[in-house]
Amino acid sequence: MENIKAIGFDLFNTLIVIEPDTLVRAMERMIKSLINSGFSIDEESYKHDYRDAASLYVAKSRNDGIETHNSIWVSHVFNSYGMEIEPTDERISIAVDEYFMAFYDRVSLIPDTLETLSLLKKDYSLGLLSNFTHAPAAREILQRTKLESLFDTIIISGEAGYRKPHPHVFNKLARGLNVKNEYILFTGDDPEPDIHGASRAGMNPVWFTYTLENSMPVIKGTIHSEIHTPFVDVPKAASWREFLHLLEG
Ligand SMILES: [Mg+2]
Repeated sequence: MENIKAIGFDLFNTLIVIEPDTLVRAMERMIKSLINSGFSIDEESYKHDYRDAASLYVAKSRNDGIETHNSIWVSHVFNSYGMEIEPTDERISIAVDEYFMAFYDRVSLIPDTLETLSLLKKDYSLGLLSNFTHAPAAREILQRTKLESLFDTIIISGEAGYRKPHPHVFNKLARGLNVKNEYILFTGDDPEPDIHGASRAGMNPVWFTYTLENSMPVIKGTIHSEIHTPFVDVPKAASWREFLHLLEG
């Protein structure tokens, strides 16, 4: 591929994967934390109501591109129980931090990721653009996986205020890389945010199909929006080796 000066990467299911039980364990930690903070909640109802609140707000952000946050969902659930608890409530912050702690030891790098990025770093500027509501957790994961130092710029939707596929975050990535959109290749696994998003922002998308081709379990809320149409005209790579071949071609 000619004229490519920089490469942008999605995070989940592009560079790293999480174990299938992560969200279940995360929810257990959140509930335990809320109970420790003095809330009396029915666990089963809470799980259900939290998922409903998350779906509600995520659906909304699908329309306007504005990122939401887990603390808003928790607050929404308590409000529906007739308790006025603000999203900024300390007890909610603690519970949200606890929720994401379940991620840290359940994350692993996709094979050859660090080696490939180190190699690419010699010739390209590298950037990360992740849809992740709670930015401190994303940054902790980047540190633990040793990915952080490989990027020239890191954009997390929870900090940027918008999520992919909104052009705001792709343009922010381009500014961070100091490269025009048309010279940026963007790779990710999720068709709507990553492929359509990058394409509409004037970047060059590459569909990273590692989890798809390896039939990795789909974790609701973290992975693929429905694949409506296969991308016949979008280059695909199912491994970093294939990705490097594409780049050379
Ligand atoms: Mg992804």
